[in-house]
Amino acid sequence: MSPSTRLLHSNVDYVALNRQLEELTLTDFLRWSVVTFGERLVQVTSFGPTGIVILDHLVKVNPDVRVVTIDTGFLFPETYALWEEIERRYGIQIHVVRPELTPQEQERLYGPALWALEPDVCCHERKVKPMAAAVAGQHAWITGLRRDQSTTRNQTPLIGWDARYNLFKLSPLAHWTREAVWDYIRAYNLPYNRLHDLGYTSIGCIHCTRPPADANDERSGRWQGRMKTECGLHWPVRPFTPCRE
Ligand code: SF4
Repeated sequence: MSPSTRLLHSNVDYVALNRQLEELTLTDFLRWSVVTFGERLVQVTSFGPTGIVILDHLVKVNPDVRVVTIDTGFLFPETYALWEEIERRYGIQIHVVRPELTPQEQERLYGPALWALEPDVCCHERKVKPMAAAVAGQHAWITGLRRDQSTTRNQTPLIGWDARYNLFKLSPLAHWTREAVWDYIRAYNLPYNRLHDLGYTSIGCIHCTRPPADANDERSGRWQGRMKTECGLHWPVRPFTPCRE
């Protein structure tokens, strides 16, 4: 840890700290994050609604904050259009990390349609491995996870330790609802992925994203027909110290 980082993982009382952070507004949470982690703070986003609400606040707290996205090479045209719109609106450059393998190299190595045959391997190549580059040298990363997104996310703390990548993981809107996020987007006319207007509720790669099968489960359009529910970036969630006893 650099001297600018005021937290040391082994010394943190996560239960107490999460209790304190739950009391803060989003802006105050992000101010605390910027003060605590300094330049070693990064937002990693795939431009989902929650990530955009966070970004809208974060650039006001620190216009120089580092924002990174992982371009799997399989994103929707609407997602690339949103990416450009966000850069224009906020006057920022979003850093991009890409998989080591191009889609063509992946096909040569693994065969066609890896996402259909072995989606965990495909996600590992195109998301989990690039994520290491996205957070390299950082002390904390900001995610757009919310507890109401799925049963695998319903224990998400505002701050936890990401043992896979060895840094703090911040989910400042973990306790917001989907409705609250969309209320904010509409109230402040924030950009969003136009696929939401077509009924998509959670948007990832083009090969693995459909409108939700269950209207009450916003992530049920991801990897439809499979047991898979997460790409691997946010797994495991539960071993993070939960914020509630
Ligand atoms: S979401 Fe689908 S296409 Fe994208 S990396 Fe995972 S398996 Fe591959």
